[in-house]
Order: sequence, then C-alpha cells, then structure tokens
Amino acid sequence: MSTALATETAVAARRPHEQSAARLFEPSRSTLEDSILGAWEDLTARGHAECPVCAGELGAAGCDTCGSELS
Ligand SMILES: [Zn+2]
Repeated sequence: MSTALATETAVAARRPHEQSAARLFEPSRSTLEDSILGAWEDLTARGHAECPVCAGELGAAGCDTCGSELS
C-alpha cells in the first residue's frame, strides 16, 4: 500500500498534467455514467434526485440549480 502510494506520488510529481488529465477524463467518464444512471433511477422512482453535475436538486424538468436534464 505504501509502496504503491509512493510510486503514484512520484509519477504525479513528474507528470502532473498527464496525471490530472487522465483522472479528469478517463476514470470519471464511467463514474459520470454511473452517476447519471443512479440519478435517473432515483428520478423515476422518487420524482427527484441529486444532480450528477452540480449535486443540486434534480426534478423531472431538470436541475433547479444548473439546468441540466437527463434524457
Ligand atoms: Zn445541476
């Protein structure tokens, strides 16, 4: 555990932009899909959900806070 953490930290320190880009786009894409699917299930089951974009209140007409809609 500590060895893996040290390696990850060393790589991140050497290539901060590549690391952050990979974390922003690759892993979070499936996480975002999971969040949207989960929000969609909550929305259909309860009529409201947590917005996967801004964590605001998401209703049938979309997010009250950021205007996102699930489609
Ligand atoms: Zn929102």
